[in-house]
Amino acid sequence: QGKVPAVSSAPKCLLKPIDVPNKLLMGPGPSNCPPRVLAAGALPMLGHLHPEFTKIMDEVKEGIQYLFQTKNEWTFAISGTGHAAMEASVVNLLEPDDVILVCQNGIWGQRLADMVDRNGSTVKKLVRPYGEVFTLEEIEKGLQEHKPSVVFVTYGESSAGTAQPLEGLGDLCHKYNALLLVDSVAILGGRPLFMDAWNIDVLYSGSQKVIGAPPATSPISFSLKAREKIASRKTRIRSYYFDCNELANYWACDQGPRRYHHTGMVTSVYGLREGLARLAEEGLEKSWKDHKDCSELLYQGLEKLGLELLVKNKEIRNPCVTTIKVPPGINWKDVTDYAMKNYRVEIAGGLGDLAGKTWRIGIMGYNCRPENVQLVLRVLEEALESIKK
Ligand code: PMP
Repeated sequence: QGKVPAVSSAPKCLLKPIDVPNKLLMGPGPSNCPPRVLAAGALPMLGHLHPEFTKIMDEVKEGIQYLFQTKNEWTFAISGTGHAAMEASVVNLLEPDDVILVCQNGIWGQRLADMVDRNGSTVKKLVRPYGEVFTLEEIEKGLQEHKPSVVFVTYGESSAGTAQPLEGLGDLCHKYNALLLVDSVAILGGRPLFMDAWNIDVLYSGSQKVIGAPPATSPISFSLKAREKIASRKTRIRSYYFDCNELANYWACDQGPRRYHHTGMVTSVYGLREGLARLAEEGLEKSWKDHKDCSELLYQGLEKLGLELLVKNKEIRNPCVTTIKVPPGINWKDVTDYAMKNYRVEIAGGLGDLAGKTWRIGIMGYNCRPENVQLVLRVLEEALESIKK
């Protein structure tokens, strides 16, 4: 019998109560959760294969099909945040000899390309500056030149504030035997999106933006064409956790009985269910209109304050994330600090190429209300005045 090691002392910080202030999250996400989502998170734990829980999973599946406007059987939520859905798309769709054409006009194209590279497949890029989007003609040239098997675009760029037009893109990709992969993390529920009608092959999103659920579960859906590509792989999917054949089974998207693959994010799925239920009750059209109206109100207010938006053309602005140029002589952080310190309001700084050069204001889901927009504008005005003094 060896000597029992001495137990190190319990961390003092854990002997104090948890400290979570109430903040108004008007950055690019997470957004505030509606009370019903928070309440759902406190419901009793269930087993991840208990019938009461798998019924909730079925409801979530229908909710995602509604938000994505798709009838795809392979529709479910990845256990993990938006990055997990990105990885899942990459590892399932691409094999080492595949080429993907990544349309990069912000950090999300860059990140996805990084994931593809780590997966051992080949990345070809179309690059545009932050604030601009791609035309069908440009993408067609890329398809002709690189003959990719997948094309990636970000519908709602949260680093740049753009909304990439998607109509006609799926058909164009299919004409060149490529699949269309779309990131809708920072826009789903905020602007029209029709997965089936627009012929998108893989679409993923996040839970913590317009849906208003905790950051933990990520909606994803695969078209029949995408499933065919996965079924005809010559190499194994390089991730066990993200293997969509396994996940589809756990979400009852195939004929077999549900198997244990991993422990589902039980209480987070309750939250996702309630976030989806709120949008189902309200209706997608109303949600799209509310985001449009609130973003218009924000644009007008910003212009009145003499601030300049990064994205000039209103038609290609992401209503959920607005990027504002920091005027010369102003330190962006003084403004965000002022808003947080005095009002507990979150305004975010820039990301990627725009770090230090922009502010980002999010209008998402439960927070999408004119009074929140007015408050952000007032706080911004006051912060700018206080800095100039
Ligand atoms: N794509 C976009 C467009 C995003 O805005 C985000 C989150 N900011 C992500 C992907 C990644 O999501 P997460 O931070 O939840 O992993």
